[in-house]
Amino acid sequence: MSTETLEFQAEARQLLELMVHSIYSDKDIFLRELVSNASDALDKRRLAGLKDDALRADDLHIEIEADSEARTLTVRDNGIGMSRDEVVGLIGTIARSGTAETLRRLKESKESAELIGQFGVGFYSVFMVADKATLLTRKAGEETGVRWESTGDGTYTIEAAEEAPEGTSVCLHLRPADEKDALYDYTDEAKIRQIIKRYSDFISFPVRLGDDTLNSMKALWARPRAEVSDEEYQEFYRHISHDWTDPLDIIQMRAEGTFEYEALLFLPSRAPRDLYQREARHGLQLYVKRVFILDDSRELLPDHLRFVKGVVDAADLSLNISREILQQDRHIQLIRRRLAKKVLASVKELMSKDTDKYRSFWREFGPVVKEGLLDGTEDHKAILDIASFASTAGEEPTTLADYVARMPESQDKIYFMTGEGRAQAVNSPHMEAFRAKGYEVLLLTDQVDEIWAEAVGSYEGTAFQSIARGAVDLPSEDEPSAEQADAYAAVLTWLNDTLDDVKDVRLTTRLTSSPACLVSDTDGLTPALEKMYKAMGQELPPVKRILELNPQHPLVSGLRTAHDERPGDAGLAETAELLYGTALLAEGGDLADPARFASLLADRLSRTL
Ligand code: ADP
Repeated sequence: MSTETLEFQAEARQLLELMVHSIYSDKDIFLRELVSNASDALDKRRLAGLKDDALRADDLHIEIEADSEARTLTVRDNGIGMSRDEVVGLIGTIARSGTAETLRRLKESKESAELIGQFGVGFYSVFMVADKATLLTRKAGEETGVRWESTGDGTYTIEAAEEAPEGTSVCLHLRPADEKDALYDYTDEAKIRQIIKRYSDFISFPVRLGDDTLNSMKALWARPRAEVSDEEYQEFYRHISHDWTDPLDIIQMRAEGTFEYEALLFLPSRAPRDLYQREARHGLQLYVKRVFILDDSRELLPDHLRFVKGVVDAADLSLNISREILQQDRHIQLIRRRLAKKVLASVKELMSKDTDKYRSFWREFGPVVKEGLLDGTEDHKAILDIASFASTAGEEPTTLADYVARMPESQDKIYFMTGEGRAQAVNSPHMEAFRAKGYEVLLLTDQVDEIWAEAVGSYEGTAFQSIARGAVDLPSEDEPSAEQADAYAAVLTWLNDTLDDVKDVRLTTRLTSSPACLVSDTDGLTPALEKMYKAMGQELPPVKRILELNPQHPLVSGLRTAHDERPGDAGLAETAELLYGTALLAEGGDLADPARFASLLADRLSRTL
């Protein structure tokens, strides 16, 4: 293989450019990134050695070498190494999801300072401090190595390197120190020690400088909380999560007895962009007695807590455990249940301890946590306890417990309305009778809300009831009377025959000021659900709903009288159509034929002038 010059992928080029112009004020972090990568490579090597004797290596470690004359700094590991294709794929491209998107927004917006903090930059951060980087690597078990070199200007060269030892070394040619610009002399031993201590102390392999080991290698999750500083936890969180914002909360657990494990979990402050993608990574790593075993361990927490990051270290598992075995392991299932409970309990604690944090947690992750209400977990109660919802009672979200506490004596159900947004839900005609009665209604606007209330049924004995579904059985003095029912029978039958799009037409007491509204059958789909299924590509027969009429409204009583007097009048069918269209518009729905509606309405209006 001769030397080839290749171009960085477009996003990688943009990121490089940002790095060269140093977007971070703290340039020291390049060393943390290199050490973090080396540590991951050593984890992989150790694991490969467990599975294949030929790949077993002794004395896994990271070595730092500084040459102040030549102004170079080298970070070397004897980890897994990279093949040529891996170098091109991993170093020449940005594989991490969301980075390209973040870069695009960075370019477009001025909110950069905020955004930049959100994503890790990994290897490219070396170009903040170096004007040339040389990476020499050989994949464990392979014959030849690869030399990669770049000055950070859009291209890199790559060639075969016979003499490369197994593992990876990154040699940086440092830019001249410029302390005013926070660009320090990174060949200075004291500076190197300080950076490693600060950012990488917990790395579980020795980081050496000459004969000295710079880090304590103490597993953070095994240390008592009081001994570990917030900063150490934050650095560890960064190392495992690649998230540059600080975690919202830290959860530590230890179980003793027949099956021992320790866990250190983090609630992130922000939802990652890929939270709703199927293939998105889960956040937990599994260790066995301090040895890294698996990333992305879906087995350790249910899907609705997939955003939690952290480490679980189990004492009694085999180092050779595979994902398949893990899925069936009884102890793992037990850990999963305990971790889930603990996470939900910690959120509950946040609710009372730090309302702002809780609110921000629920805003970011509430919709995901609520997915847990759909499966058969035992956590329904715990999830409902930490849930909060928008409500007609005020601007702030409310918990179910508070809602129930506010219920007047005559109310026996938790009423809710689903919809796309607060305004739409609040102004919907369905709300009228509840407003008149002073009953609070929860406004559920997340997609998942369409489904769970049905699945869950009740909260501590109080049933959930959609106000846009089925008949309202509001305890009421003003039920439509028998006389009214008789008087309206003919016009209701006629309307039912005339309007193809509705399933039934009936009188209601749920309206006070609107003439009509549409409700779903008890077992029918709501419009939002219908939309959701369609978006998922499911074929559905058209869903018909029930048109409910307010007999107190002059339009409705007038239509009845007109129908009684002139049953053959063709104009009445148009009035019926307008009535139906108005009900649809009032709830924020879409008319099948808006042009026809507009022309019918214009026609009517002109006749009133
Ligand atoms: P990140 O570490 O956040 O994934 P980087 O840009 O730092 O992003 O690295 C990209 C990838 O390159 C890593 O995920 C890893 O697969 C590979 N890599 C980087 N450094 C090393 C190393 N020292 N040994 C082996 N692989 C490495």
